[in-house]
Amino acid sequence: MSRISFNRKRAKLKAVMGIRARLVLLALILVVPLMVERVRSLEETRVKTIAEINQEFDKLAQRTVEAQREVIFSVEAILKSASQIYLSGAQLGDACGLMRASVPTNLPWIRNVLVLDPNGRVTCASVDNMTNLNLGDRDYFKRAKSERKLVISDYIFSRVTKLPIAVAAYPVDPTDTRNGNVIIAGINLDWMSKVMDNLGGRPGVSAILIDSHGTVLAAPADQASMIGNPIDDTALLPAIQRASAASNSATGRLHFTASSGKERLISFTRVPGTSSRLIVSVDEAVASAKINREIYIAYIQLGFVGLLVLLGALIAAERLIVRPIEMMTAVATQFGRGDRSARVARSQLPAEFVPLARAFNAMTAQLGERERDLLTANDRLTVMASMDALSGLANRRGFQSRLDFEWFKTLQTGEQLSLLMIDVDHFKLFNDTYGHLEGDTCLSRIGEVLAGIANQTKGFAARYGGEEFCLMLPNTGADKARTIAESVRAAVQVLALPHATSSYQTVTVSVGIAVTSPNETQHPTDLVEAADAALYAAKHGGRNAVVEHGFVSPSDAAMKMAG
Ligand code: GH3
Ligand code: MG
Ligand code: MG
Repeated sequence: MSRISFNRKRAKLKAVMGIRARLVLLALILVVPLMVERVRSLEETRVKTIAEINQEFDKLAQRTVEAQREVIFSVEAILKSASQIYLSGAQLGDACGLMRASVPTNLPWIRNVLVLDPNGRVTCASVDNMTNLNLGDRDYFKRAKSERKLVISDYIFSRVTKLPIAVAAYPVDPTDTRNGNVIIAGINLDWMSKVMDNLGGRPGVSAILIDSHGTVLAAPADQASMIGNPIDDTALLPAIQRASAASNSATGRLHFTASSGKERLISFTRVPGTSSRLIVSVDEAVASAKINREIYIAYIQLGFVGLLVLLGALIAAERLIVRPIEMMTAVATQFGRGDRSARVARSQLPAEFVPLARAFNAMTAQLGERERDLLTANDRLTVMASMDALSGLANRRGFQSRLDFEWFKTLQTGEQLSLLMIDVDHFKLFNDTYGHLEGDTCLSRIGEVLAGIANQTKGFAARYGGEEFCLMLPNTGADKARTIAESVRAAVQVLALPHATSSYQTVTVSVGIAVTSPNETQHPTDLVEAADAALYAAKHGGRNAVVEHGFVSPSDAAMKMAG
């Protein structure tokens, strides 16, 4: 990148990064971390909401397991005591009656207690209409008979009652292998649904207990319609089985895309000793809809706050920085244009700008004062530049500007203007005779004489150069000019400054006179040249003389020559 284009880019960046942009950037730097933090905490809340559901599921699973254990214990105790009573009752001749009487009726989870003969036929039942039912083919019966211990069946869905049940089976006399009777109890699973109730009523959350075939055994009250039906999504069960097999654990979690296309977070656990599973399925979109809405509102709020902060920063920048700067710039511009009274009104500025305004006002006051000093000095210098130090008269520059002024003035008034050119005679010889210093003194004395005469005649005397002087006489005609010229010549002679090498023995001057009434065709230099020509004539005439030159304008002279 060339240096020029780099500088151009830098200038562009500077223009973009004006004070407003910088303040906005600063505000953003302050606000953005707060916004990011708020969004982060909201996102955290969303994750927490899902985690809370998972936690509750874990609690539910634990409670289910505990409740189930409790139920099994109580059922085991009932079966054992019922079998004892049944055996004792047999000796008394009323085994069934005593057993029926002993079965507690106040246990909600015991549906019935049945005694099966070695072939599985119901020989005694705690509830009516169950006798003669043959359950010999049931797995729990066979296992209790052969294993001689308590056997709990899988949770099954009763085809008769349409209710989920489990069956506990116990040999009537576990110690006597010849006694093939088995006592069984039907266990009600309503309690399962009750345990699950605290997961009910939540949008997007479903909690169910399913058997190994995927039939819903228990569900919270609001999802009770599912009980007895297969789970809606047939792909779910294989997915859980795969996840369970992969992690080698009966408990786990998985993301599942339902056939409806909805993303669901599934938590599952197997109820110990059974092939049933507790499943909690969370529709993330529905479950987090509330928090999503809150997050959405929070985003809008943050955007709004951010916008307010930006606007605030812009207004603050405008009022507190940009406007005072513009105000001071305007005053500086006003001052620069020459208004020396321009001052910054401190009362309209923020406190931080007051010292700057005070310094600015002090500076403008000082600058004004310095400018006045400079003007005075300049005037003095102008005067000095137009003065001749030796004679105390105006120098050639001063003469020239006065001549221009008088010429112009006379042009307006139509009066006459006379000019005397005065030259010291044989001044070279004077210098040679008396020395240069004495020559200076001589020039100085002549200057005094001319100043006096100029004063009397309202004329303007100047040292034209070297030993040559001039006397301008405004509003003066030829006669008066001649008289004044003569008085000049005489006054110098009267000074009687000794000049041994002059034929007059004193210092004398020759005077050339030119008189005119200026018009547009003439120029001031014409007057000077005419006076010079007259002076030349005076020198030729023997010096210490006055000669008048009839002023003729160059155009007139050219016409004459042509004639
Ligand atoms: P003329 O009568 O024809 O005017 O003869 P002149 O000698 O006066 O004229 P010239 O031009 O030959 O000499 C002028 C002299 O004036 C020469 C110079 O040294 C002298 N001069 C000019 N300015 C000064 C000055 O400021 N001080 C002194 N002391 N002498 C000066
Ligand atoms: Mg001369
Ligand atoms: Mg001379």
